[in-house]
Amino acid sequence: VRTISRFLFCVLAILLPLVGAQAVAAAAPAAPMVKTLHYDASGAPAWQDEITKAVQNWNADVHNVQLAAATGGQADFTLTETTGWPQTMPGGNGTGQIELGQQAVDEGFDKTRITAHEIGHILGLPDNRDGQCSTLMSGHSAPTSCKVADPNAAERAQVEQNFSGALRTVAAWDGTYGDCFTERASV
Ligand SMILES: [Zn+2]
Repeated sequence: VRTISRFLFCVLAILLPLVGAQAVAAAAPAAPMVKTLHYDASGAPAWQDEITKAVQNWNADVHNVQLAAATGGQADFTLTETTGWPQTMPGGNGTGQIELGQQAVDEGFDKTRITAHEIGHILGLPDNRDGQCSTLMSGHSAPTSCKVADPNAAERAQVEQNFSGALRTVAAWDGTYGDCFTERASV
């Protein structure tokens, strides 16, 4: 009986705040869960400065996903330098392989912009060959003089949406410990 009464108390304790939480949630939406992607840039020794800068740009421009160097563990994506044209093989959900190709550098394209562009593919952005320098994903359709290495507003919004796993609060009764608890889960 004691367990049952505590369970009922738990149900009330869960339900009553939820009613109030609707108003609170409207006034102050919960911060989205931040996804951190780890990268391994050991295969691109000639691009280290540009990778650092491109990562700084992305981390400053978006919030729902952040980039950090992998430290011994498994990397979500890799950056490798090649003699060919830059390309990315996205694996979905922030994974994949980036090839930082020297051929585009030889043709005059900016290394930091190339790097930020390829990371954009990892973050789920497609190419957009609109020729605009302000569009990061315009790639080589923009002139070689273009050094913009930040996503524009629409590109930022798309990446935020790609990594916008909304949070919900799950309230549950734990029969083993005879206690009610809440946990936060990504939906
Ligand atoms: Zn591209």
